[in-house]
Amino acid sequence: MFEKVLIANRGEIALRIHRACREMGIRTVAVHSTVDANAMHVRLADESVCIGPPSARHSYLNIPAILSAAAITGADAIHPGVGFLAENARFADMVTEHGFVFIGPSSDHIRLMGDKVKARQAARDLGIPCVPGSDGAVGDAEHARQLADDIGYPILVKAAGGGGGRGMRVAEGAIQLGEAFTAASAEARVSFGNGEVYLEKYLDQPRHIEVQILADGRGSVVHLGERDCSLQRKHQKVLEETPSPALNARERAAVIKLATDAAAQLGYRGAGTFEFLYQDGAFFFIEMNTRLQVEHPISEMVSGVDVVREQLRIAADLPLSMGQADIALEGHAIECRINAENAASFQPSPGEITTYLAPGGLGVRVDSALYQGYVVPPHYDSLVAKLILHGASRNECIMRMRRALEEFVIAGIDTTIPLHQQLAGEPDFIDGNYDVHWLERFVARARA
Ligand code: ADP
Repeated sequence: MFEKVLIANRGEIALRIHRACREMGIRTVAVHSTVDANAMHVRLADESVCIGPPSARHSYLNIPAILSAAAITGADAIHPGVGFLAENARFADMVTEHGFVFIGPSSDHIRLMGDKVKARQAARDLGIPCVPGSDGAVGDAEHARQLADDIGYPILVKAAGGGGGRGMRVAEGAIQLGEAFTAASAEARVSFGNGEVYLEKYLDQPRHIEVQILADGRGSVVHLGERDCSLQRKHQKVLEETPSPALNARERAAVIKLATDAAAQLGYRGAGTFEFLYQDGAFFFIEMNTRLQVEHPISEMVSGVDVVREQLRIAADLPLSMGQADIALEGHAIECRINAENAASFQPSPGEITTYLAPGGLGVRVDSALYQGYVVPPHYDSLVAKLILHGASRNECIMRMRRALEEFVIAGIDTTIPLHQQLAGEPDFIDGNYDVHWLERFVARARA
């Protein structure tokens, strides 16, 4: 096993990785921008290196600075966390070329799945149904219109290099398609340096169902069940739960089989997530994430498996510490993503935390790098805490969610805690009766 791991990330996810390392007796190196000098991930790590100014481009995305930090501190391996360089195949290659171990899958798999046009093709080759759409990338608006006539409106124009809900535009008809095409490819060029787009039928009431897998590259692939991440705003997840209230045992088994078979056939090695849209009893592949995911804790809560520990083991060429038969998925788990944003307007709300009081008690987990006196900088993702609940049943879990949200105090900035409190009392949520478009309508109603 590694002696020292550099964590190329910040915030709660850097802490999460630090915690797994600590429990395995591995020393940690934090990297940070100037504005993060007092951040919790820096305070808790064994060593830390400043890698640049606040702008992520010059710090957390600064590959030479991160590799230098690893060399100076004598780290054996680098964990990229979530976001930043986690799905950057060139980074994975450079880490390896410089003699460190990349804690993640092979750069070939990152590259394949990072291009959603290629990923769709790979899924089709494996016999996995995809959302009906274009076979490959679409070169111009005219071609898009021809294809759309066959696929049928509404159409979603999506960026091949997309992520984080960006580079996506809906067109209700042929007239809007030209505009949607131009807007999506322009946004994709700016955000991902690749303007290539493709088309998918825009499903009217899908649920987002994803399967967490772990594969050791030695033929062992296990799953930790599915997650329902349908509560989204701007195509970004807000609350996730497992198991999905929408699936019966047969459907659950079917989607899990799609994911585990695909991982095995791809010869995948590492933690990964296969994402599907589920509508009218059918699953359609949308993408695979070749990394740890923000919502991984709910799978940990029901399975008892430490996903980061397994990532470290796989990277160190050790077998998984369990087989599928050792994993019992028990109870229900929910994650509330708490952002530093106003809960009604969603305006970012950086600033100093004047009071911080996290909830506790049975079945409550808080993953956060906040503390009293900490100043949330305006430069990064607005996620500041994840409240994760576990209960024997979904009902118990929702009651626990209400109780924990009531206890949670984050003062000095606005957060989305009130949004989660509203959700916890909402009949559709309580009934598990929602799709990926539900939350947008709920938010619009609450504003009106
Ligand atoms: P990203 O990589 O940006 O997260 P995804 O392809 O994973 O993009 O899609 C993110 C979300 O956007 C999905 O969970 C879903 O809510 C919505 N979405 C994506 N494709 C479709 C589609 N074809 N029809 C309806 N909604 C979609």
